[in-house]
Amino acid sequence: MSNVKAGADMDPEEFRRHGYAVIDRIAEYLREPERWPVLPAIEPGAFSRQVPGSAPVQGESMEQVLADFDRLVMPNTTHWNHPGFMAYFATSSTAPGILAETLAAGLNVNAMLWRTGPAATELEEVTLVWLRDLMGLPAEFDGTINDTASSSTLYALAAAREMYPELRVREEGLGRDGTPRMRVYCSADAHSSVDKAVITLGMGMSGIRHIPTDEAHAMDASALAIAIAEDRASGWLPIAVVATVGTTSTTAIDPVPAIADICEREKLWLHVDASYGGTAALVPEMQWILAGCERAQSLVVNPHKWLFVPIDCSVLYTRRPDVLRRAFSLVPEYLTTTDPSDVRNLMDYGVSLGRRFRSLKLWFVMRYFGADGLRQRLRQHMDLARSFAGWVSADAAWEVVAAVTFSVVVFRYRPAGVDSEEELERLNAQILQAINASGEVFLSHTKVNGRYCLRLAVGNIRTELDHVERAWQLARKAAQYVAADAGER
Ligand code: PLP
Repeated sequence: MSNVKAGADMDPEEFRRHGYAVIDRIAEYLREPERWPVLPAIEPGAFSRQVPGSAPVQGESMEQVLADFDRLVMPNTTHWNHPGFMAYFATSSTAPGILAETLAAGLNVNAMLWRTGPAATELEEVTLVWLRDLMGLPAEFDGTINDTASSSTLYALAAAREMYPELRVREEGLGRDGTPRMRVYCSADAHSSVDKAVITLGMGMSGIRHIPTDEAHAMDASALAIAIAEDRASGWLPIAVVATVGTTSTTAIDPVPAIADICEREKLWLHVDASYGGTAALVPEMQWILAGCERAQSLVVNPHKWLFVPIDCSVLYTRRPDVLRRAFSLVPEYLTTTDPSDVRNLMDYGVSLGRRFRSLKLWFVMRYFGADGLRQRLRQHMDLARSFAGWVSADAAWEVVAAVTFSVVVFRYRPAGVDSEEELERLNAQILQAINASGEVFLSHTKVNGRYCLRLAVGNIRTELDHVERAWQLARKAAQYVAADAGER
């Protein structure tokens, strides 16, 4: 029975009862994450039609609310925790992370200032030192946690812009007569968050220059050097280069050492987007992926992508926290404190004043699994991807389209006798649709040099060999249907 009292919080005993019920639900869900199709069979708008259009006037019982959660939310959710989720970059929330999120909500700390969250502020520092050391990054790298890599990259580029105090952007904004227009460089395969950051910072779409990639889909460093020289000659002010370690489409790695040489010569800020790939460096034999990154001014890595931490948790490391603070620190009277001046106030490191206690989940996850446990799982994911790529390569009707460096396989159906890219796209899009309609596996797609490809991304902690095998079975079965259908037409 409900015990709803107008405006009063739930009685602790009632909370305990519902709390156990919620934890029971999560435990059952995690025990059997395949109970629900990974992709719900739902049309846009169908969910909201089942929910009242206005908020209840009288409070409702938690029993009712939880029953609606079971009835409406569970079947209409895309299940990122499903082991067959291998689309985009697969992620997972693990039990220690879920427990930490629950506690963080319980405390409701807003660590905008050290004073408003001493443990949260200092735990963020401590966990990010742990992570930095496990990734083999230099001790000068100072980290802060943001919601997403998009924010982290935005902040890094805002800091890059702050390296030119003579432009007085902070004081006077952009577009004053006589000030040069700024440019940022990234590869043609860099994530769209880089473009968004440049647009948000007021530099416009023309403020970003996409550098061509080589046959390995990595930035062509010599083309970068030429682009910078051309831009300087025509009056642009190059300010930063974003290199990617693990691109979204093919997980390619830009040549960071060569890019760092150029950045040092040209005095440009080097930001590395390692939001997916970076965590692979926890595995000692994978640390080579971060070669040259020790020379970057900043680097983003997302523990919520491939380190089993519930979304959201993106880490921005920088060797220039002073410049990052210069870009963002603004302290009105009501936020001044009597704490020592060198104390860390997280509000100084980005746009948001309020800061969630995100380090708690990173701390729980790192402690529960330990470096060895995390490494073991990362290795297993990379092994699964290699196995899948092996099966694809062994079948003459299929091809692996990009090198498998991490845990993603980019592949496509390419039967003998079909050479038209248009027809291959049609076939592969149909295969993808059939695989995803199974409810067992969810894959996504990309285009590589104009070729439509399927993408299988292993990253969920519950994904095992049988899930990857099943994905391959479904792909082959779908190809048979699609080919038969094409033959009949
Ligand atoms: N950078 C890369 C390489 C990505 O693959 C992604 C997303 O997949 C992002 C940045 C953006 O990540 P977020 O969702 O954390 O903003």
